[in-house]
Amino acid sequence: MRAALPWLGALSFGACLLAAVPARADYCRTKSCDNQPAYDDVWQTQPDPACQRDNVGCLLQGTPLYWPQTCISFSVQRDGSLKEGIDSDLLDKTVQSAFQAWLNADCGYGQTPSFVIADYSPAVCDKAEYNKDTSNANIFMFRDASWPYPNSEDTLALTTITYNTENAQIYDADVEINSAEALFTFSDEESDTVDDLQSVLTHECGHFLGLSHDPTYGSTMYPEYSPGDLYQRTLDVDDIAGICDIFPPGQTIDRSVCTPRHGFSRECGTPPSTASCGVATGQNSGALPSALFVVLGLGVSALGRRRLRA
Ligand SMILES: [Zn+2]
Repeated sequence: MRAALPWLGALSFGACLLAAVPARADYCRTKSCDNQPAYDDVWQTQPDPACQRDNVGCLLQGTPLYWPQTCISFSVQRDGSLKEGIDSDLLDKTVQSAFQAWLNADCGYGQTPSFVIADYSPAVCDKAEYNKDTSNANIFMFRDASWPYPNSEDTLALTTITYNTENAQIYDADVEINSAEALFTFSDEESDTVDDLQSVLTHECGHFLGLSHDPTYGSTMYPEYSPGDLYQRTLDVDDIAGICDIFPPGQTIDRSVCTPRHGFSRECGTPPSTASCGVATGQNSGALPSALFVVLGLGVSALGRRRLRA
């Protein structure tokens, strides 16, 4: 199946870039350069050598990804996490709080970024997928049974963005949360916190909205989370500059168009038949790719502390 879809790739950001920490970092937007499958701090250590980065660690090549609409919908998956005792209502509230941090960013003179979020919960579908021929949903979902990606112990969550490689428009975003390994907590006290779900989701919402990692410790988009931390709930100056760049204040917000591409569906799409994805017709061969997966991760060291406790 994977071999039949050569236009799928992955783009991401490396923890190796943290070696040279600048005195003051700026934000990075997600760009469409590194489309090799599986590059990230969570996946492999070396980026695509063709993708040059500046001294902050931002990709130099490629167009910043962006949502084509100013109203963006999300859905939480209806099952929540049975393992962690987190129902879909609690997940929904936490996702809303996470988005609220970005919506409330002060872009100057009391102005906020020009976008709104629409809650289309719950979703029945529990897959991170984009259906190019049918309706979609931008889903936040737990992975209770197992984490289906490398470095399970070091990953708290993963945001997958599907975008058009020709114009950098984001078509779909899905967030998977590693409840198989993490121990999520909701306390406002660091002493009672293990893996703060709101911090994790505020970071993932940054990816969802088009931001990449920021190597400055203290920013929400810092690529790592340490157990007990709460600071990533709150945007720092870099995060605020980033979201105000993506959605400049003062723009018209169209609240009438919030649905995902090709419409909204709570259900997963129908998998393509073998014939439709396995046969390259003359019409398709040589065509430019229409979309790529961008895979972003949040590396953590949470498990070590829990092992010590145990
Ligand atoms: Zn991340």
